[in-house]
Amino acid sequence: MYTSLGQVYNEVCNCTKCELCKTRTNTVFGEGNLKADLMFVGEGPGRAEDEQGRPFVGPAGQLLDKMIGAIGLKRSDVYIANIVKCRPPFNADPKIEYAEACIGYLREQVRFIRPKVIVCLGRIATQHIIKEPFGISRIHGRVYERNGFYLIPTFHPAALLRDEDKKRPAWEDFKIIRDVLKNSGEKDGQA
Ligand code: URA
Ligand code: SF4
Repeated sequence: MYTSLGQVYNEVCNCTKCELCKTRTNTVFGEGNLKADLMFVGEGPGRAEDEQGRPFVGPAGQLLDKMIGAIGLKRSDVYIANIVKCRPPFNADPKIEYAEACIGYLREQVRFIRPKVIVCLGRIATQHIIKEPFGISRIHGRVYERNGFYLIPTFHPAALLRDEDKKRPAWEDFKIIRDVLKNSGEKDGQA
C-alpha cells in the first residue's frame, strides 16, 4: 500500500505495466488541488499531454478550463487525471487491458484526494468508472452515488469541439455538477 500520493507518482513515472510505456514520451500522472472537492477524469493523454507530461493541456483542455471557469472555479481548484497515464498511439481508445493495468493508480489518486464529486469525461472514463451499459448521450448529467462519492458522466470536451450541438447539454451537466458540489458542501456543514 502506498503511504503518499508522491509514492504513486514515482511508480507511475517508472511504470512498465502495459505496452503504452514503450511509446510514451512522458507519463501524465494528473495534477491539481490535492484537497479538491471536484475531480475530472479523462481517457488518456493526447499529443500535447504526452509532450508536456500534464493532463488536458491541448485544445480539449482549453475548453475544459473554460467550462471549469463557467461554474465559478479555477483549474487550480480541481484535480485532473486520466484512466491511462500514457498516451495511446494515434490517440486510439486505450485497450481494456491497458485501462485495467492502469486504473489502480487512479484509485489511489481518489483515495488520497478524496473528492466529493468525480466527473467522468466521455465514454471511456464513464465505462471504466461507472460501468453502466449505456452510452454517454443517454446517461450524461445523471448523478450516481457510489462508495460515498458522487459520480457524474458528461461529454468529453474533445467531443464538444467536434460537435457544437453537444455544448448546450454539456453546460446543463456542468450546472448539475456545480449544484451537487454546493449541496455536498452543505452536508458537511460548510458554506
Ligand atoms: N484527452 C483526455 O482524455 N485526456 C487528456 O489529458 C487530454 C485529452
Ligand atoms: Fe503503466 Fe498506466 Fe502507463 Fe500502462 S498506461 S505503462 S499501466 S502508467
